[in-house]
Amino acid sequence: MARTPGTNPWFDLFARCMEEMEFEERWTLNFNYNLDPDLDVEKRKEGWKIYKTSSFGRFDCPCSNSWSSAHVVILFHYRLRRDRGLVLMRAFRQQCRNCSNSSQQKPQITNKQLKQVFDRLILKILKNCYGEEVGNVQRKLLHRKTKPHETSLCEACALGICRNQDDEVD
Ligand SMILES: [Zn+2]
Ligand SMILES: [Zn+2]
Repeated sequence: MARTPGTNPWFDLFARCMEEMEFEERWTLNFNYNLDPDLDVEKRKEGWKIYKTSSFGRFDCPCSNSWSSAHVVILFHYRLRRDRGLVLMRAFRQQCRNCSNSSQQKPQITNKQLKQVFDRLILKILKNCYGEEVGNVQRKLLHRKTKPHETSLCEACALGICRNQDDEVD
């Protein structure tokens, strides 16, 4: 799938959120579907920080089944070095329950939900990269009806980082 920079809604939204912050440094977002759930010593030494959160999202399988989940786990590694900030993002996939096709689907997250995710991330960036005092983020938990979470179909569960709804303190 070729992707022209600037045409992905997640990149666009991230760029808009960062513009609002008026950082002097240039922040870039990249996807990395192999991002490690932990930071090793090397990575920490290099200045990487980690943030894990979750959001509400939808999944569409090519078999035409679709489902919603309140446990779309999203993982970020981020680092500010000199005048460049880099954010790596991994949204964990889920597998369709109706199909023998074992390929996992990537989540779709509405701009509104994703904005909330980025807002939380930005608070972490302010705190950990710029040393600003930020209050605890009030999370409005959504009580939407979704089918029970099937751990066997969830990529984040397989890695043991799902269902732990506490945002990582780092
Ligand atoms: Zn399917
Ligand atoms: Zn899970």
